[in-house]
Amino acid sequence: MISNNHRLDQQLIEREDHYMATAARINYYDLVIDHAHGALLTDVDGNQYIDLLASASAINVGHTHPRVVKAIQDQAAKLIHYTPAYFHHQPEQQLAERLAKLAPGTDNEVIFGNSGSDANDAIIKFARGYTKRQYIVAYTDAYHGSTYGSMSLSGVSLNMTRHMGPLLPGVVHVPYPDTYRRLPHETDHQLALRYFHAFKAPFESYLPADETACVLIEPIQGDGGIRQAPEEYVQLVYDFCHQHGILFAVDEVNQGMGRTGKMWSIQNFPGIRPDLMSVGKSIASGMPLSAVIGRREIMESLGAPAHVFTTAANPVCCAAALATLDVLADEELVERSARLGRYAESQFLDLQTRHPRIGQVRMYGLNGGIELVTDQASQQPDPEFASDVIYAAFERGVVMITLKGNILRFQPPLVITKDQLDTALAAIDDAMTAAEQGRVHRPQGKMGW
Ligand code: PMP
Repeated sequence: MISNNHRLDQQLIEREDHYMATAARINYYDLVIDHAHGALLTDVDGNQYIDLLASASAINVGHTHPRVVKAIQDQAAKLIHYTPAYFHHQPEQQLAERLAKLAPGTDNEVIFGNSGSDANDAIIKFARGYTKRQYIVAYTDAYHGSTYGSMSLSGVSLNMTRHMGPLLPGVVHVPYPDTYRRLPHETDHQLALRYFHAFKAPFESYLPADETACVLIEPIQGDGGIRQAPEEYVQLVYDFCHQHGILFAVDEVNQGMGRTGKMWSIQNFPGIRPDLMSVGKSIASGMPLSAVIGRREIMESLGAPAHVFTTAANPVCCAAALATLDVLADEELVERSARLGRYAESQFLDLQTRHPRIGQVRMYGLNGGIELVTDQASQQPDPEFASDVIYAAFERGVVMITLKGNILRFQPPLVITKDQLDTALAAIDDAMTAAEQGRVHRPQGKMGW
């Protein structure tokens, strides 16, 4: 229920502004969340919202799932932490085995961290250490994290790295396939080849393949706009890697854990088995935990100690992760993601018939990027319109943000009910009409990155 009273929200945020550094924030609207269950958020003023963000795809099984809460409480009462660098505990052991068996391939090992960012740093270490090569190929528009390593891998054009250079040397960015803004009359096959040529271009000039350690890709980009690279393209890159002894690494931090309708997003690409995979976010339903899963030979190549954090593999976080995996399986949430995703796609396509500024609807599981443009012909991004839409949706009880300024990010908890989804879609429909008619009065200033 929305009262649109945000008095306490605003007071608390004004006070926080004095004590918390803005560097940790991306500006949207004033919302101080008090509690959350399933796909519903309640703020400190008592307003209720349908959550279409799932804490940035970190709460796939729903907020405060009773089984996750119980696992956390039980484990916290037994052992909150002991650093894994020296001794062992069972939640870590059990989780490593579960993840090793869940990932593609039969001979995986696992290493734990605290965030998706440090998992991607680990990918750099393992790839370089195993191959004894220095260069890494990553993608434009990708976001891989906020540590120096993961920030250097990121190709997203943010202001994020300003005055913080130099970044890690040896990272080369190649363009991520854009299947929306294509060349006139370009077929899928021609598009895949065009981007594969762009991928090979550095190797044909300055980048020695035999000094390249790995290619790191999100097979479906998250923060890059929720968009899938063509299957043929990924296969060509994968084959190129094999021919040249380059490791093929995937970042599943955003798109893993059932989000795309498969357990891992790379499983949408039959026949591809990554050498290394980073996992985070929803692995422990938002508790700080990440993992790199990789082929045993690579994971054993660094020896010990090479990658240790005092708080990695925290037992409470591991217990949350084990419960999260149980819930995903028992409630068949991966299948639900695929099924409800198809429904959501049909509903957004229906919205597109009434709102011509919806340029493209991309949906992979319960996971979508809805691209808003000034008009269908020019495909010009329309961040003003997108900001109006998400603000108007917020006023109508729906929490949603944008990617790249103009793309609606649709990533609800996978337990969202069909009724909640329909209510949210009706609110978005109404928000779009309000935005089209210039009836949205939002605070001044840029929203988003
Ligand atoms: N990789 C991807 C694909 C991500 O989307 C993110 C977070 N948006 C990260 C890595 C970084 O994860 P974290 O914020 O947990 O460090």
